[in-house]
Amino acid sequence: MRPAPSLEMGKTRIQSGQIHERARQVLADAHLQEAYRSSTLRLYTHRLQAISELPGFERLRERAYALKREVMEHLDYYLAQFAENAERRGGHIHWAATAAEACAVVREIAEGAGAREIVKAKTMVSEEIGLNRALEAAGVRPFETDLGEFIVQLSGEGPAHIVAPAMHMTRHDVSKLFVTHIHSEPTDVPEELTAIARRVLREKFARAGLGLSGANFAVAETGTIVLVENEGNIRFSTTAPRVHVALVGIEKLIPRLADLAVFLRLLGRSGTGQKLTVYTSLLTGPRRPGEDGPEELHVVLVDNGRVATLADSKMREVLYCIRCGGCLNACPVYRKIGGHAYGWVYSGPIGALITPQLLGLESARELPFASSLCAVCRDVCPVKINIPDLLLQLRSQAQEQVRAPREKGALVSERTLMRLWAWAMKRPWAYSLGSRLARLGQRLIAREGWIRRLALYPLSGWTEGRDLPALAPKTFRERWKEMGKQ
Ligand code: SF4
Repeated sequence: MRPAPSLEMGKTRIQSGQIHERARQVLADAHLQEAYRSSTLRLYTHRLQAISELPGFERLRERAYALKREVMEHLDYYLAQFAENAERRGGHIHWAATAAEACAVVREIAEGAGAREIVKAKTMVSEEIGLNRALEAAGVRPFETDLGEFIVQLSGEGPAHIVAPAMHMTRHDVSKLFVTHIHSEPTDVPEELTAIARRVLREKFARAGLGLSGANFAVAETGTIVLVENEGNIRFSTTAPRVHVALVGIEKLIPRLADLAVFLRLLGRSGTGQKLTVYTSLLTGPRRPGEDGPEELHVVLVDNGRVATLADSKMREVLYCIRCGGCLNACPVYRKIGGHAYGWVYSGPIGALITPQLLGLESARELPFASSLCAVCRDVCPVKINIPDLLLQLRSQAQEQVRAPREKGALVSERTLMRLWAWAMKRPWAYSLGSRLARLGQRLIAREGWIRRLALYPLSGWTEGRDLPALAPKTFRERWKEMGKQ
């Protein structure tokens, strides 16, 4: 099968400029282009249909934003309340400040349970902390049970999308992958491919000593973990093994059980266009007498950079994200360059914000620039995160951090250009003279109404990835004068 852009999971540094190289690879691959185009378009269209059928959608978004703001402003209170209630119902609470601590906690629980095999529901936090590698190093085998995650685990890649990890693959790709790794018969029929994965995974569910999940929401009022899914694998992972571990980013808190209705109505519609996902599980403590479920429930509350993000009163909006994937499906940049180009676990507009928060801006300073700032991400976000504003803030911080001499030079020349522009804009005669000179100058380089290449740095950066429309033959003022005469 085609080599997809590689993604080294668990790596905590992104080489500056890597996104350009990865993006170029994806743009040159017609197969990948079609996979991303058709999948994102389908999800985006389903979303439009779903929200058109829900009266008061805007009010729900506003309510969700207000609830998330309330949680973030009192996160210490809600975390303590959640922990107390979860423990009262028999759960064990663990706190992990870093990725390494979170991995160590899971490893110790697995060792304590004597689990050599783990079944995993899809959890982005586990990708974020590099859990699979940490478990494998300790001799514990993790098995992804979400179909998309199962596929990308076989292919050795990371998720290409928050909600649809194998979005970059077609069914033909999956068939080849299964033939290679599972030695199944080739088939392009989706139902048969699903049946193959199901057969392999059934056996894992039966054997695993521990099931691991994330959490879509954690309800402070009751100490409940809420999980949404379409495949039923999360129910299996959280109930069949004797021990269940839930990895929960501390931003997943919501205050009350009644608030869940707000988020559930937004999540499915915004992500996949579903009114509700097929299964919604509310887990409060381990099993009680007469119930199914695990004997032990452990909740690992993961910080890993979230508290530092909370300290920035503007940037903390990033933590409102409910991981619906809607902004990825809508983003014209994501649709073209796909998820792996972003170089880490989280991709798309929200990935361009989260990654610099969790890894440090110096490790991911290219990402905030991977946006056209068209603001469609803000329009589709169910919790109304002002993504373009936050991207601009990060861009500004990234520019301040520039240290390399050439980039410093670029910054100075950009500043000089901007100052010159501002000066001219305040003086009509200078603006008019400048545009006349530019029109004269462009005669040398414009062809058929377009400037395809500017040689002068840093302007050359503009035409590296796009053409520049040539200046119109007449200015607005000139045309206005002519119209007046007519
Ligand atoms: S930022 Fe908003 S649209 Fe994007 S994944 Fe998060 S909740 Fe969904």
